[in-house]
Amino acid sequence: MLEVTCTHPDAKSYYRIEQFLQLTEEDIERYRQHLICPVCHGKAYFRKQSVNGRSACFGSNYHASDCGNWHPTLKTQQQKEIEALNQQLAESDELIFDFVIPANSKKEDEPRRDSLKGKQSQERVLRSTKTPSEKLISKDDTTVNASRRPEVLTPDKMLNNLLHGGELAKSETRIVLKLGNKDYSYKAKNLLVNFASAEPAKNFEEAKLKMYWGTVSHTDKDFEWLNPADCDDVGIPLGKAKEAIINQYGITSRDELEGAGILFLGLCFWNKDKTRKIVKIQAADKLYLSLLGDGRVN
Ligand SMILES: [Zn+2]
Repeated sequence: MLEVTCTHPDAKSYYRIEQFLQLTEEDIERYRQHLICPVCHGKAYFRKQSVNGRSACFGSNYHASDCGNWHPTLKTQQQKEIEALNQQLAESDELIFDFVIPANSKKEDEPRRDSLKGKQSQERVLRSTKTPSEKLISKDDTTVNASRRPEVLTPDKMLNNLLHGGELAKSETRIVLKLGNKDYSYKAKNLLVNFASAEPAKNFEEAKLKMYWGTVSHTDKDFEWLNPADCDDVGIPLGKAKEAIINQYGITSRDELEGAGILFLGLCFWNKDKTRKIVKIQAADKLYLSLLGDGRVN
């Protein structure tokens, strides 16, 4: 998109991309989490010009089905998947969820920036990841009978359905999570939380594991934190997941995350001063990113 509506009280209510680019860097940072699609009012994001020449633009992962700003090719493909999953939800009491990252998620091989890659190898990061099953103790848990074999849901289909207003976010269907040697079952509507609806526990120890999802607005300058486009009161520290993301998805610049859909197992709690909600990524290999290709306009 080349035009956007801005809801920040200090900003103008409407910007064309060239006007937004004329703002100071400080104002861009202040306003970029307050953008919505001018047609359907879906939450929007701003993408800088990329190092390989893609122009700066606005985008949204949340266009309404009748919004003319939802790219027609993408829309057809995404709606087909959404309808297929909606159908599965209508017919199934439970779906098995497996955190398999689709093979086409990684960008084509490109030279990576050493500054981002750091010293740790992907192997070390992935091996050091702990199973988060010990956090999964709540009234909603049940251990699942392994003799039945429901449909398997993958993170790309799950995220697509969540981002585009499919039935999953409010579904009563149980999602069976396979973690370590155990399976855990949650009602989809209790498991899946958009960043804007995140409810923080008093502290890390009391936080319950949920599946958090939304859109990445931007990272901080050091690429240590993600800021969602969905709201401006949540921070997502990357921690060990930073190396895993860089390696898994072939990230060469932190700007490539702008506008990416994201889904991960996490814990939400207040920061020390109770001024900001922290959503901590629980395991680096239980995170899925839907990156925008350079040709993709959303
Ligand atoms: Zn729209």
